Amino acid sequence: MAGIYIHIPFCKSFCNYCDFYSITDDSLKGDFVRALIREASLRSSYLEGETVETIYFGGGTPSLLEPATAAAIINDLRKIFPFSGDPEITFEVNPDDVSEGMPGELKKAGVNRISLGVQSWDDRSLRYLGRRHDAAQSVRALEMIFGEGINNVSVDIIYGVPGTTTVDLKADLEKTLVFPVTHLSAYHLTVEDGTRFGRMKKEGKLKEIDEESSSAMYSLLVRYCREHGFVNYEISNFAKEGFISRHNSSYWKQIPYLGLGPSAHSFDRRSRQWNVSDVRKYIKAVSSGEIPCEREELDKIMMFNEYVMTSLRTMWGIDLIHVEEFYDKELHDYLVNLSGKYITYGLMKREKNTLVLTDQGRMMSDNIIAELLADL
Ligand code: SF4
Repeated sequence: MAGIYIHIPFCKSFCNYCDFYSITDDSLKGDFVRALIREASLRSSYLEGETVETIYFGGGTPSLLEPATAAAIINDLRKIFPFSGDPEITFEVNPDDVSEGMPGELKKAGVNRISLGVQSWDDRSLRYLGRRHDAAQSVRALEMIFGEGINNVSVDIIYGVPGTTTVDLKADLEKTLVFPVTHLSAYHLTVEDGTRFGRMKKEGKLKEIDEESSSAMYSLLVRYCREHGFVNYEISNFAKEGFISRHNSSYWKQIPYLGLGPSAHSFDRRSRQWNVSDVRKYIKAVSSGEIPCEREELDKIMMFNEYVMTSLRTMWGIDLIHVEEFYDKELHDYLVNLSGKYITYGLMKREKNTLVLTDQGRMMSDNIIAELLADL
């Protein structure tokens, strides 16, 4: 069981909060796609013959690719790797890129899940975030996506934008659920260095919302989604029954994945690799038969820490039997001992052999996780 992530490193413009690698010059698109397929061939043995269960086109902006190009990439990948009978194939789409016929063509190409970057239904927030689309375009995009037969649709929302409150978040959630979306990813705005917002913060032109408001927003988010039939399967991810993202879940369950494209990361249970964040260097290296990546070997403690970091964010939590069998009794006991105080404070609970965060604990997940990590 394995996944493939494909990084499409092109955007029409840069959003103010985004620190993903992309460029706005799309003249290299053709060369990039050829290099991508070449990289897949060069790394055909990376997944060691494991069946590909999921493909995720992320970015950057995958919807800047023609659907025919997406179809060609999927076909080529099918020739290189063994695929399961019903792979989940997700395509990230920006609302302003959706045109009539496009979702249907993606469906014919094999895409069966769309992740739409709505981010907000408030045009002022969208402008502040530096998005290119407006709310009316998101409405039309969702109408076309559902109208053309793609029924597994995730919507991305960003909350915690300066100047907004729980009232704004509630309005965003209400407007999202006018449509029969099956999945919601709702991330709190984070201000990263190297972004426009990062520069504004340094210059004192951006003040992040306070912790109390953030907590109130997260509580509202969880409550609202639950009341509307969504399972909060990961801190920021919500799904209707049967629509948990198989691809994202594989990251959290430490299932191997191959990342193709500049800046894409790969994981094979023994190491992590990450490709160079430079389209030109990527194309040049791959075209001459090299993989331009760095690699970090993962020892037992690093794997354990990753397991704690990722699993505690999910509703499945930490499986103590897995820790004892896959790692060792010492790490198992270490977790049982350290988690005791969080269980007493009501921030964690032990259900048979799993440790999971409570709703209250999820609000402090970063601090709790940091304390549970073993020393390297
Ligand atoms: S948020 Fe998406 S569209 Fe905006 S710059 Fe980042 S990758 Fe590009």
